[in-house]
Amino acid sequence: MSIIQYVFYFSPHQDDELLNLGAAMCRDIDAGYEVFCVLCTDGGASGARLLIGDGGCCQWHEGRHDYSMDRASFSAARDREFTESCRALGVKEDHIIIPRNRMADGGSTVDGAKQIMRDAIKDYPPEQVAVKTLSPVDWQHQNADHTALAKAALQLREEGGCALVEEYLETILFPAPEGTAIPETVTPDEAQRKRLLTAADSYCRWQPEEGRFAVGFHSVADEFIEFRKEQISRLMIQR
Ligand SMILES: [Zn+2]
Ligand SMILES: [Zn+2]
Repeated sequence: MSIIQYVFYFSPHQDDELLNLGAAMCRDIDAGYEVFCVLCTDGGASGARLLIGDGGCCQWHEGRHDYSMDRASFSAARDREFTESCRALGVKEDHIIIPRNRMADGGSTVDGAKQIMRDAIKDYPPEQVAVKTLSPVDWQHQNADHTALAKAALQLREEGGCALVEEYLETILFPAPEGTAIPETVTPDEAQRKRLLTAADSYCRWQPEEGRFAVGFHSVADEFIEFRKEQISRLMIQR
């Protein structure tokens, strides 16, 4: 019998916790685990920052996108989306964690990621802690922050810092090459599906006067459109 009680999801950017890990997170919450969600970068490198401030129009939103933001303001706008997404998924308020030492988007290191992980779980017995993040992928280019977190999780496990690591395949890298095993596909039930779609709304909210710029959607519109059709997580590796 598993003695895991605490499950820590480490999300590289604002949106990975939903698009890639959301279904798994809902399942763990409903199974009664204490679920934490930790944001590991500032998300400041997204091209959406320019898109929202370039004075142009887009097919989705009324008016002009003349909301230029510095990196910190942009990051704060993304954090609002992330926090609301986590809430909708069912993560408790004090389990939504944006650490002070989070890394710059695009500048993640394995050591930096591992430090964030250690800090997050330090108050809990390692034998009761599971760490969940994205899976490292070598068959095509992967975002460097994603890779760094995956490597950090593995090292943490090897060093005895947690009892279990689960890595999930990011949807954008699906399908995997033929012959690649995907041990488990997590499919939400109806109630979980509602939570997942509500969380997606957070990333699509266009209310500039309230500091909501649909940053997630502007960053990866195609992924959100796909996510509205199917909200699953794909477990690649458990160790
Ligand atoms: Zn990401
Ligand atoms: Zn727009």
